[in-house]
Amino acid sequence: MGRQLALRLVQATALPLVLLAVVVDNAGAKGPVVIAAGWEYRWDDQTQWKPMDIPSNPPGRGERTLLHLRTELPETVCRDAAILIESIDTIATVFADGREIYSHGDPRTETGRVFRGWPWHLISIPEGTSSLSFLVYSNYRDIGLWGRVLFGEKSEILSAIYLRDLVRIALAAVSFALALVLLFTYNSSTGNSSYLHLALVLMTLVSRSITESYVRQLVLDAPLLWEYISAFTNLMLPAVAALFLSGFITGRPAQLMRYAFWALTAFTVLSILGALVGFYPVSAVYAPADIILAVFIVVSSTTLVRRLFVGSLDIRFLAAGFVGVGIIGIVSILVVYQILPWTDIFEDAALAFFGLMLFLAIGVRAVTVQRELREKSHLLERLNAELERTVEDRTRELKDEKNRFEQMSITDALTGLFNRRHLYSRLGEAVSYAARYNEPLSVAVMDLDHFKSVNDTHGHLFGDSVLMTVAELIKSHLRESDIACRYGGEEFVVVLPNTGPDGAFEVAERIRRAVRDHQWEHRRVPVTMSGGVAAVDTSGEPKVPETLLSEADQAMYRAKMLGRDRTMRFADIASR
Ligand code: GH3
Ligand code: MG
Ligand code: MG
Repeated sequence: MGRQLALRLVQATALPLVLLAVVVDNAGAKGPVVIAAGWEYRWDDQTQWKPMDIPSNPPGRGERTLLHLRTELPETVCRDAAILIESIDTIATVFADGREIYSHGDPRTETGRVFRGWPWHLISIPEGTSSLSFLVYSNYRDIGLWGRVLFGEKSEILSAIYLRDLVRIALAAVSFALALVLLFTYNSSTGNSSYLHLALVLMTLVSRSITESYVRQLVLDAPLLWEYISAFTNLMLPAVAALFLSGFITGRPAQLMRYAFWALTAFTVLSILGALVGFYPVSAVYAPADIILAVFIVVSSTTLVRRLFVGSLDIRFLAAGFVGVGIIGIVSILVVYQILPWTDIFEDAALAFFGLMLFLAIGVRAVTVQRELREKSHLLERLNAELERTVEDRTRELKDEKNRFEQMSITDALTGLFNRRHLYSRLGEAVSYAARYNEPLSVAVMDLDHFKSVNDTHGHLFGDSVLMTVAELIKSHLRESDIACRYGGEEFVVVLPNTGPDGAFEVAERIRRAVRDHQWEHRRVPVTMSGGVAAVDTSGEPKVPETLLSEADQAMYRAKMLGRDRTMRFADIASR
């Protein structure tokens, strides 16, 4: 949650800032003029002035360390004229029409010739000055004025500086924020360490941006210290890039990248220590740093370029960012060695491009993660629904099964009528119901006549079929609320709620006649039954089920005694 919010914030602020920076950068292009031509030089041991375009590294230097430079100032009228020198290699004194007006170190004395960093210089020009000259000392690779020499109103130069830095600082701030997001959202147990390494790369780029900015000098006027920080940053850039790339690739190249990280880190620390101890000036560190960076860019570019075209989109954006930075790195090295003309847009462009690619990569990553999560939750929902359906099915099956068993436990297997056990519970209910509501209730007991001989004569199978048919005949004469049971072998009991003795007698009679009149398979087989009917007395004492059954049974036996194939009422036999 926090991570997503932070990412959104950074994404929302980054692009407008980059756009603003570009607009502001273009706006800053007007203002002071660059003194780009009309320079002259002479080495200290020469008297002849020779023309040159750029006041840096004139031909024929040899072992020389002292150089004179001069130029005519433009005829522009300024209220408060100044020049900006972006950098001096490495020590210089400045003269206006022959009068000393400024000095960075002192080229004329041994103690003044010690390297003291590469700050920028904003030098006020006295009114009426027509020419400027410089005495420059350098035991460094380059000699002269480095970068641009700007001439104009002091205030305009300053605002140009601030405008250019605005871009730089804005980009650095966004990159710094992004690095912080990566650092704070990194989870050491589950996180991908690539993002941690990416934060290191970003921090290094931020540090580089700041050390190359103008404002660093306004914040802290310690050029030499800035030089150390800058050297450290430049040396560490390939190291942290190697660390990041090691997570990008696999196998032996990844191993090599990890070795490169440690080797470059060790080299960085030793180089800086060497300069601090005084073996060489810190400026000497830049040449090897440039060479290492160039070699590193070339070596890693094959891997990176391949990564542009394969794999997931976020990785491809990251690869694009690194390739872009690599190309810009090479260009800026070519600029440093004056193979390409001087320019300062590359640092900003590199950081902007890298940041943009990083945003895209992280954006893609966030979207991918979100989509994966959504897909997973959909799958989970589907599985859940499936499970629920299965559980429902199983429950229904179990219920059906249970019903089937329950039905079986109360049913007679042969006839499908209720069994004797069920009769007792239903009869009990019926008796209490009749007693409570003072309603009539009757019971009929019916027994097949001489069934033993039917079996004996026609076989048990025929006997069984007779029992099934009789059960059907009984059911067909009953109402929904009536309860028909097979009481014993060939004995049936019918409970008739809401029915008095006469009604019950009628029902029993109809069943008896239906059985007698049925056309059996064996035509000559006479199948008859005798029945007895008993009822609860609605006016007198309530009867228990056993009594009711026994009374019906007694009536049925009376029917047997009287010659069978008939129905008797208990009330009739009891009153006699
Ligand atoms: P009564 O008229 O006195 O009732 O004579 P009965 O032969 O019907 O009476 P009894 O109780 O002596 O014999 C009952 C016979 O019913 C015995 C048995 O062969 C037959 N029986 C009982 N249960 C079944 C059954 O499930 N299937 C068949 N086929 N016969 C059965
Ligand atoms: Mg019988
Ligand atoms: Mg019997």
